[in-house]
Amino acid sequence: MFSALPDQPEDKILKLMQMFREDPREQKIDLGVGVYKDPDGKTPIMRAVKAAEKTLWETETTKSYVALAGAPEFNDAMVALVLGDAVPRAEAACVATPGGTGAVRQGFDLVKLGRADATVWYSSPTWGNHVSILKHMNVAHKPYRYFDAATGEVDFVGMIADLATALPGDVVLLHGCCHNPTGANLTHAQWRQVVELLNERDLIPMIDIAYQGFGDGLEEDAFGVRLVAAECPETLIAASCSKNFGVYRERTGALMAVSRGGADTVRAQKSLAYLNRQNFSFPPDHGARLVSMILTDEALKADWMAELEEVRTGMLALREQLAAELKRLTNSDRFDFIARHRGMFSMLGLSSEEMDVLRESHGIYGVSDSRINIAGLNSRTVPLLAKAVAEVVG
Ligand code: PMP
Repeated sequence: MFSALPDQPEDKILKLMQMFREDPREQKIDLGVGVYKDPDGKTPIMRAVKAAEKTLWETETTKSYVALAGAPEFNDAMVALVLGDAVPRAEAACVATPGGTGAVRQGFDLVKLGRADATVWYSSPTWGNHVSILKHMNVAHKPYRYFDAATGEVDFVGMIADLATALPGDVVLLHGCCHNPTGANLTHAQWRQVVELLNERDLIPMIDIAYQGFGDGLEEDAFGVRLVAAECPETLIAASCSKNFGVYRERTGALMAVSRGGADTVRAQKSLAYLNRQNFSFPPDHGARLVSMILTDEALKADWMAELEEVRTGMLALREQLAAELKRLTNSDRFDFIARHRGMFSMLGLSSEEMDVLRESHGIYGVSDSRINIAGLNSRTVPLLAKAVAEVVG
């Protein structure tokens, strides 16, 4: 049987990581993998996470199963974090999942259960896993235009035109904030227009929010998801704690299904628990417990928010520095969008050949679609990247 297994394509980012490790140059810069790094290149354990872990170690008395839906206090805390008071708690079904990826996967599973003939519309480009999971699950999917590489901004006219061709009952996958890979995001006015279109055409939004707190702040980054959840009859939300709590390997996320309460919400909650059972049974608890401990303890929460804010403003400062440096070196405003983009990523708009030159001649590792991880930079390496980019495009 194994000899009949299809060859799996190599993950381009993991391949890039390996090439980076094997590169003997001292001056090399890793802007590939999507993990936050501090100015020293480390991915730290956040202070509040470490403190919660200590308390947990001291107080946890059993490792017995919790619940199919995950710990209720985690689900409550996540609904509050993502949705604020946009909808009553009783309108949000929610389960814990293994990371944001688990939530995305379960969200597509729910679509299959509820509307097997729906097409899932995804932004072009989007996080590679969206498309590969859809393919793997045999869910119909189509791209909608999203990014204008010439300006570095959202191609909103193209997006609306493409979504206007979706059929009633189709699902529209949106990034809640900090779009991966482009870094270009919808304005408030554009979110409102998207909501209008979704409701006019009876489309079901599914929002992937993996970077809340990395863009304009915890509340501001939830603007779109809260608007959609409040205004659309049904909304799916896949949330990840990997980045904003830095608990990547603990596999911590949540899938929410928001509707107007009553029987539909109860049915959704039961279906979400059922899907957990079929796919992996009980979701992981360790990371989820740390998250709920932090979000329900005033002092821990304040410390977490302060550290997250340092992460966010640090990335913003790097964006400003890079955009200014590129403006000076290219004598143009071509790269101004880097300062307007939000989150960990920006797509530079370089060709894959130009990205090859960055890697081969300058030891700078970005993804071939020209996505760079801003957090892979520090104030010392920004000028090196700017100089290399200016040379490559010059
Ligand atoms: N969605 C998007 C858009 C992402 O970038 C990521 C992280 N790469 C995820 C979901 C999920 O990440 P995880 O499974 O590690 O929580």
